[in-house]
Amino acid sequence: MSTPAIHITVLGSGTSSGVPTIGCTCAVCSSTDPRDKRLRPSILLQYEGHNVVIDTTPDFRQQVLRAGISHLDAILYTHAHADHILGLDDVRPFNFRQRESIPVYGTTDTLAALQRVFCYAFDEKIESMVPKLDLRRMDETPFELFGVEFAPIRLEHGKGTVYGFKFGAAAYLTDHSEIPEKSLTQLQELDVLFLDALRYKPHPTHSTVENSLKVVERLKPRRAFFTHICHDLPHQATNASLPENVRLCYDGMKLEFEI
Ligand SMILES: [Zn+2]
Ligand SMILES: [Zn+2]
Ligand SMILES: [Zn+2]
Repeated sequence: MSTPAIHITVLGSGTSSGVPTIGCTCAVCSSTDPRDKRLRPSILLQYEGHNVVIDTTPDFRQQVLRAGISHLDAILYTHAHADHILGLDDVRPFNFRQRESIPVYGTTDTLAALQRVFCYAFDEKIESMVPKLDLRRMDETPFELFGVEFAPIRLEHGKGTVYGFKFGAAAYLTDHSEIPEKSLTQLQELDVLFLDALRYKPHPTHSTVENSLKVVERLKPRRAFFTHICHDLPHQATNASLPENVRLCYDGMKLEFEI
């Protein structure tokens, strides 16, 4: 069997408030470089004709329109913070076109949060057009999705727990302050590694440029991409200061790798 290629599109590379940030006139928020415009954090994976998104941000509608996709096969959730889930209602046009529920993967806690926030989607008395979702509980056991294995990777996000995903030789680790030792052992010999790098200044629930560079040094992926970026990091100047194999993500960035 030939190994499939996975195409990744960065749908959003920004932190929870997005960049530009409402009301801010700093150099990055007023930059004309399109790579300094960051929607909320999410990626699209495309392989063998399937479209899978990790998280549905408040910008989900705009992100899928921009990516030009007309069907959606599954959603994987890292955690239930607002910047990662609030676009979920906008899967309705996919439901309508596909005439079926969309598989949604998350932990017990994440799925419970979705059922609270989007309670109307799970209320059988409501007959109007609501998102149709097929909730699939995940734990730390790897699962298969359209022929590719996804391994949930446990991360610490301040006092909370978040899951990154490893698929083939790539891993997407957003929203973390710490990667537990056991998870680090699962991240060897990667081609592509996405890491949270909010800014330079320390933050209680997010990694920094300095800290994520240490992770890159330890894990030695072939390529690393920083995401969940706030308005402290101008794209071009920050990239120029990073090692050759480490780049800031930008919205619309595409890459490809063999599984
Ligand atoms: Zn976040
Ligand atoms: Zn700003
Ligand atoms: Zn978060």
